[in-house]
Amino acid sequence: MNIILLGPPGAGKGTQANLLVEHHGMRQLSTGDMLRAAVKAETPVGLEAKAVMERGELVSDEIVSALIDAELAAMGDGVGAIFDGYPRTEAQARSLDEILAKHDRKLDHVIELVVDEEALVDRVTGRFTCAKCGEGYHDRHKLPSSTGVCDKCGSTEFKRRPDDNEQTVRTRMQEYRAKTAPILPFYEERGIVQRVDGMASIDAVTTAIEKVLASA
Ligand code: ADP
Ligand code: ADP
Ligand code: ZN
Repeated sequence: MNIILLGPPGAGKGTQANLLVEHHGMRQLSTGDMLRAAVKAETPVGLEAKAVMERGELVSDEIVSALIDAELAAMGDGVGAIFDGYPRTEAQARSLDEILAKHDRKLDHVIELVVDEEALVDRVTGRFTCAKCGEGYHDRHKLPSSTGVCDKCGSTEFKRRPDDNEQTVRTRMQEYRAKTAPILPFYEERGIVQRVDGMASIDAVTTAIEKVLASA
């Protein structure tokens, strides 16, 4: 099973991808996570991407498609892929078709998380993650059950992304509207797009996604 989680910044793609990894042993392929790792490691890709990401603009199609290709090449054949934050442009969607064909995979579902824009600013500016295991949290919607301690690994260190500020989020939303939302018709033609209400609770969104996965 290979699926795309599509939605603007803060829609809940990472949160739901993590749950699918836990429940189904699928693998999350997040170009945002890959790029942040490259920035941290100061690789050539990271050095090129850093300023672009801080502005909330899109990194080049060639770079992100190469990252995805390399990850898929390293994955076992039987492991399902969850594309999170990729593709983000029509050129990336076309590259993904080629990459999937090369690795003998096919796309089963494109799940669009539908959310309203004002909620996104609140979601993104309140977002933080465990510095050790990466578990995602939120200042208002998902605090650790014991204050200051990660539910998953017990760490007491958390971090926030430099691009999770209001100004950058507005640019990222603009990029989504201009370049990413227009790829939906590309997949709609194939009849594989399913819409899920991303404004529902995290659990309700998971239930809706599970329903899509269980459908043919
Ligand atoms: P994305 O990967 O689409 O950018 P995230 O999964 O990181 O989004 O979610 C953004 C923030 O909103 C996180 O802090 C997360 O805990 C929170 N969040 C995710 N889904 C929901 C939801 N259904 N309701 C409320 N908050 C949510
Ligand atoms: P979010 O889900 O909150 O929008 P991501 O972690 O997916 O954030 O992406 C963070 C940043 O990394 C984006 O604003 C963009 O600069 C870059 N990026 C991630 N994925 C892609 C992609 N597929 N194409 C171009 N740029 C990307
Ligand atoms: Zn943790």
